[in-house]
Amino acid sequence: ATTVAFSVGIISEVYGELLRAAGATERLIELLEAEPAIKPPVRPVALPEPAQGRLTMESVTFRYPSRPDLPALNDFTLSVEPGETVALVGPSGAGKSTVFQLLLRFYDPQSGRILVDGVDIAEAEPEALRRRFALVPQDPVIFGASGSENIRYGRPDADDAAVVAAAKDAVAHDFLESLPQGYETFLGEKGTRLSGGQRQRLSIARAVLRDPSILLLDEATSALDSENERLVQIGLERLMTGRTTLIIAHRLATVVNADRIAVMDQGRIVATGTHAELIDSSPLYARLAELQFSQPGMASVSARTVNE
Ligand code: ADP
Ligand code: MG
Repeated sequence: ATTVAFSVGIISEVYGELLRAAGATERLIELLEAEPAIKPPVRPVALPEPAQGRLTMESVTFRYPSRPDLPALNDFTLSVEPGETVALVGPSGAGKSTVFQLLLRFYDPQSGRILVDGVDIAEAEPEALRRRFALVPQDPVIFGASGSENIRYGRPDADDAAVVAAAKDAVAHDFLESLPQGYETFLGEKGTRLSGGQRQRLSIARAVLRDPSILLLDEATSALDSENERLVQIGLERLMTGRTTLIIAHRLATVVNADRIAVMDQGRIVATGTHAELIDSSPLYARLAELQFSQPGMASVSARTVNE
């Protein structure tokens, strides 16, 4: 591997999250040493300023290198307008995580195009492209570093005031301040361990600090206690405001609030609509809504909505 298309700095910034999201943190070294799957553009095209957050995937077909027989995405087409929230739902293996991996250009599709604000991401300057995105993974990585350093992974040049402002938006300020050394408390495996809800809020703070035009949110499947659940939702709602958001959704409240739901199966979108529309029109969606969507503390609402 002679050309490494991403630096260690970027890895800690974005790919650490992405790899963890893909369940692959342990493969980091392997990936660094491997031939990168993406080719940086010879003559990069500038993304338009200011960012709009328009996202277009046009007839995207992608097979993982290790599975050339199986298209993970198969003629996949999706457009997301600036500021729109689209929830991706579908059975395990439908291709939801693969959509995120391609958007972050961890891989390039074999055919079709992906555009951000009208620019083919294969032509965009890779670092500028990544700055347009933030990923909030299911199970965020907390690095062995202070709380403020952990948030600053979102934007390494941010000053302390920006870190604190991001933490406040993400409802992480109070718990960080209450740690023995406040924001400077060493976190991670060998330091203070955070609860699931605290890790999520720290990850939201990173994303707030990045100030992305497009947010990729992989919703946690495991239920948090209701107080943490509430605080995470407050942080997420603030983060999503005014941004294009693509969510791999597992909670009923999320799909109900999305502008649009895209139901995926076998690498394609098989139905789109609102929750109420899809409950009637898509048997797959109706089944997913019944079996898969968790709604901590709102079981009665869930049952009522599903049965209507
Ligand atoms: P979802 O997130 O909807 O569960 P994925 O995007 O993870 O689906 O997977 C889509 C398909 O691609 C599945 O058939 C899965 O087995 C396959 N797949 C996912 N990741 C990899 C990988 N790293 N290498 C090979 N195949 C993969
Ligand atoms: Mg997945």
